[in-house]
Amino acid sequence: MDLQLTPEQIEIRDAARKFAQKEIAPVAAHFDETGEFPRETVMKMGQLGFMGIEIPEEYGGAGLDTVCYVLALEEISKADAAHGTIMSVNNSLVCHGLLKFGTEEQKRQWLAPVASGRYIGAYSLTEPMSGSDAGTMRSRAVRDGDYYVINGRKSWVSSGPVADVIILFTMTAPEKKHRGITAFIIDPRQPGFVLGKVEPKLGIRASATCEIVYEDYRCPVENRLGEEGEGFKIAMTILDAGRIGIAAQALGIAEAAYEASVKYCQEREAFGQKIGEFQGLQWMLADMKTRIEASRLLIYNAALAKERSKVTGERYTLEASMAKLYASETAMWVTTKAVQIHAGMGYSKEMPIERYFRDAKITEIYEGTSEIQRLIIARQILGELAK
Ligand SMILES: Cc1cc2nc3c(=O)[nH]c(=O)nc-3n(C[C@H](O)[C@H](O)[C@H](O)COP(=O)(O)OP(=O)(O)OC[C@H]3O[C@@H](n4cnc5c(N)ncnc54)[C@H](O)[C@@H]3O)c2cc1C
Repeated sequence: MDLQLTPEQIEIRDAARKFAQKEIAPVAAHFDETGEFPRETVMKMGQLGFMGIEIPEEYGGAGLDTVCYVLALEEISKADAAHGTIMSVNNSLVCHGLLKFGTEEQKRQWLAPVASGRYIGAYSLTEPMSGSDAGTMRSRAVRDGDYYVINGRKSWVSSGPVADVIILFTMTAPEKKHRGITAFIIDPRQPGFVLGKVEPKLGIRASATCEIVYEDYRCPVENRLGEEGEGFKIAMTILDAGRIGIAAQALGIAEAAYEASVKYCQEREAFGQKIGEFQGLQWMLADMKTRIEASRLLIYNAALAKERSKVTGERYTLEASMAKLYASETAMWVTTKAVQIHAGMGYSKEMPIERYFRDAKITEIYEGTSEIQRLIIARQILGELAK
């Protein structure tokens, strides 16, 4: 694995770091507290090219590689994980999906505005009664001439309340279970699209999340993404890319908690010495740093696998799942230790440590829980034996 960053990769990482620390970090606590969507900073992320990093310039993107994407996403998430969620959904779940599976016309109409950050994109697979097991979804799309009539309730749509376009997965042939799922590009301005309840969340509170109800929503046939029945394959292929993004988000959260912990160990005193002189805390820092660097290597490994796949077409499911599993569990572990090191101040809203702790948890849940990642990894290792 070649870990030497190119000048271009260093440039985007530094630009993201500067922007995130100057513009996002100072407002992160406010948006966490209010749960408002940080529209202004998200718009600026679009202007800087961060909302469609890997998308070719002809479709409105920055035309950069996956390593640039993970470097930038880590920096944004280090300042605020909620901005990381918005960026990750837009880039990996929506732009990547439209680029890979969209027709030329769909790319011109939908991808270009999302990749340039003019539109905000969302991805909608989950339903109230169907999370890890997508084959049990209850929403339906029924063909009616040149349209599909869509009915049902989707849940946990990140960026849903503010989305300008949504990739929706719904059943066209329920008897076929996951092979009966079809993907559609949804325009939320059309009749039959109803925003449901906003989800009250533990963390990433500035990333708007809601339910969406479809009531005889008429989706034109030309907005079908891929063929009928291909939706599950499309959803899973998109999630391979998404999981690399979530891993980078987790790394950013862990880094922020680790750096704050080092600083606190150097400053805080107890029993007449710096708390960093206690071996118990030194070992926590040592383990934090080791796990963070191991996560980084798995993420770069997955990013390079995705780059190779642009040439070979090969999937990088195993690399993406390993990176997501390890980095998300590292983020949760590191932020838990960071609260412990900061003790009372770690529990206080006067410092960002408790926010890092709350934000870290989601990385073990969305885009496939840790249990699902282990299942995917085992299947990759054992094939049919683990099915
Ligand atoms: C803040 C937030 C944002 C989200 N954003 C989006 C989004 O933008 N789009 C979207 O489509 N979804 C989104 N989700 C949904 C998310 O992807 C699901 O919550 C997740 O996939 C798990 O589904 P579930 O919550 O229904 O849990 P369940 O599937 O009901 O799982 C419950 C428990 O059972 C375990 N489990 C399930 N199956 C197995 C198995 N086969 N083996 C072992 N253990 C298993 C799970 O790991 C978990 O511990 C979001 C969720 C949250 C909380």
